Amino acid sequence: RSGRSAALRARMEERLLGARFRYLNQQLYTGSSRDAARLFRADPAAFHLYHRGFERQVRRWPERPVQRIVRYLRRRPASLVVADFGCGDCTLAASVRNKVHCFDLVPLSPRVTVCDMAKVPLAAESVDVAVFCLALMGTNLQEILGEANRVLKLGGTLMVAEVASRFEDTHAFLKAMTQLGFRTVSKDLSSSYFYLLEFAKKGPARPGPAPGLRLRPCLYKRR
Ligand code: SAH
Repeated sequence: RSGRSAALRARMEERLLGARFRYLNQQLYTGSSRDAARLFRADPAAFHLYHRGFERQVRRWPERPVQRIVRYLRRRPASLVVADFGCGDCTLAASVRNKVHCFDLVPLSPRVTVCDMAKVPLAAESVDVAVFCLALMGTNLQEILGEANRVLKLGGTLMVAEVASRFEDTHAFLKAMTQLGFRTVSKDLSSSYFYLLEFAKKGPARPGPAPGLRLRPCLYKRR
């Protein structure tokens, strides 16, 4: 009897956790990066809950996108300096020999520098590779990617891994990236889960609206 009620309680807690995760997730995708920073600063417990939910989601996928970025970096010189925007648990930094600057809203690991990714404490043109792995969450995408442009050296690499279903119009998105100063080097759209895009910085971001720079929020279904 007590075994059954414990199982029931566990299932209820699981449900509740799922509901709170979906709610937080929706807030992250429908507000600006500043709103996200404010949210997690006010409620660090929410952040840990979010991450538990996130882990449960990506475990269902055949491959973690961050592993693709790890493989990419291992093929290139370890001397390249990397900035990981929205680093989560710092899997990337822990898996490569490169110097990796890790940025997130709350420290899941002591490696993390806590900040809003729209404003990272790095000098202009100081990194070789900027990474956004499932981290393009705020609605102020232009500002966030503009920040990546600022810290990247000319010719530096921008890697974006994002949930495939978030792209409304991939062509328009890539065109908008041109306006932000990025040339498309390669795009792997073969996975039905996530796209992997590689860009090179060809100059500073041009000001003005970039209407194609839109991603759908990634809303998870109740299971
Ligand atoms: N890149 C990691 C984590 C992806 S989850 C991986 O692939 O495993 C997305 C991460 O982006 C979360 O850790 C979240 O806290 C972070 N994030 C969201 N908005 C942010 C912001 N405005 N500034 C910094 N980090 C942010």
